[in-house]
Amino acid sequence: MNAVAAPVLADANVRTMLAQFGLDVEYTRSEGNALHYTDEEGREHRVVDFACGFGSLMLGHNNSEIAERAKQILDAKIPVHTQLARHSHTNDLAAALNKIIQRELGTDEPYYALFGNSGAEAVEIAIKHAEFDRLQRAQELLGGIEDHISAARAAVTEGTAQVSPEAYDQVGVAGSTRFEDLIAEVRRRNEAAAATPPLFLTIEGSFHGKLASSIQLTYNEMFRTPFKALSAQARFVPADQPDALAKIVSDERVPVLDVVVEDGTVRVVERDFPVFGAFFLEPIRGEAGIRPLSREFAQVIEQVCAELGCPVVSDEIQCGTGRSGAFFAASHIGLRGDYIILAKSLAGGIAKTGVVLVREGRYRQDFELIHSSTFGKDSFSSLIALKVIEMLEADGGQAYRAAVERGDKLKAMLEAVRADFPDVVKDVRGRGLMLGLEFHDQSEAASEVIREQTQHGVIGFAVAGYLLRKHNIRTFTTASALHTFRFEPSIHLGDEDIAQLDTALRAVCEILRRQDENGFAVV
Ligand code: PMP
Repeated sequence: MNAVAAPVLADANVRTMLAQFGLDVEYTRSEGNALHYTDEEGREHRVVDFACGFGSLMLGHNNSEIAERAKQILDAKIPVHTQLARHSHTNDLAAALNKIIQRELGTDEPYYALFGNSGAEAVEIAIKHAEFDRLQRAQELLGGIEDHISAARAAVTEGTAQVSPEAYDQVGVAGSTRFEDLIAEVRRRNEAAAATPPLFLTIEGSFHGKLASSIQLTYNEMFRTPFKALSAQARFVPADQPDALAKIVSDERVPVLDVVVEDGTVRVVERDFPVFGAFFLEPIRGEAGIRPLSREFAQVIEQVCAELGCPVVSDEIQCGTGRSGAFFAASHIGLRGDYIILAKSLAGGIAKTGVVLVREGRYRQDFELIHSSTFGKDSFSSLIALKVIEMLEADGGQAYRAAVERGDKLKAMLEAVRADFPDVVKDVRGRGLMLGLEFHDQSEAASEVIREQTQHGVIGFAVAGYLLRKHNIRTFTTASALHTFRFEPSIHLGDEDIAQLDTALRAVCEILRRQDENGFAVV
């Protein structure tokens, strides 16, 4: 009897798409910076992985020290799920992260930790916390206005103050001179303003996750727009354009009316309603094409947000946990962040975790009583993350130095390729082990195949399939910048791995230079 192939019930559509480019291989073994698969002819291939979990494998695949620690934790029968009890491991992890914050970000202010399971979940937690905080700020503002109204009423009743005639025109009750009409209109307008949904700010090209709310902070329209109705919206600010940021803030600001008594006169003044939920940024934007945020623009954002009272959320999910050559990529640009988010490499590529760290001055303790998750904050992931931190911090930060040294070597090779193929390679960017190589746009390519694949947005898959099948190199483009390939290996990247990539990229460049019609075909 012939064996019937099992139906594909998980990601069948994606698998079909991958198959068109020879990318539907099954990796069966991995260690360090390599993956292994067996091809259709039964040959085993060692693939150098430059995608490395899209940032989750800073310490490599199946890191043996981390795997050993995982076995110890399980063998010791340390309870994994004990919700509503003391969690010393989670607390130790928060303390270890705080120690690094103090050292790298130069602040003694404690950051409180909220745990989730993934990057996007941590972003959702940050969104919820920011909204919880915003509502309380709104209540404080509106409560203050009510106090001012009572004080003004008392002054008018006692005859120690008079309403300024312009106040009636200003709020649109011209014709009336009754204090209570004025107040009724002030309240009506303020109620309408207070019903404005929160607005988040982020930078063009950003990626902050794919869950119901976080997807609205992710720039890629194909991912974002079908789900617009589900959640609060974001405005995407062009990077390095302070004037564009100022215009967005001025267009979106929502005024409320306050009533003040000054020198015996009751006046109406405008105040800003806290409509801005938070400014989310990545110190190095991964999916935007590996683009480090400039120190200058980070400062502008911090200043604008301080004026608005809106928190700055530093999403270090991809660029953090040592990849940039420091634990926090924000430390290179002097950015502190009111919230800091980590995930991916934090759990060593073996467990899953995500954490939001909120600085004390912005932390709302009551949030802990209304947010939780069964798997957030489990002992296993906390202990693994502690192990990761211990490994990163060992020998005075040897792992960070390795990220710089390996990254510099890899970048020098990418720069050399660019220098030899300026007609094909547009740019090389990034820092540490988070690098990108951008090809020139091929939408007008002479080769029909290359042109059409570019126009259909699949040239990246065609090149990735070629790199995999012909050169045993694994990498992909970034999600929102489809001409940029990502190079985010682990610190175990070898010189021979860099040489293998060098050969492979030069072959890609030759195909593009020659406009070789079937150069990337592998199936
Ligand atoms: N933020 C950033 C900066 C990311 O790069 C990613 C993942 N690419 C996420 C959030 C979402 O993380 P996850 O895939 O774990 O949900």
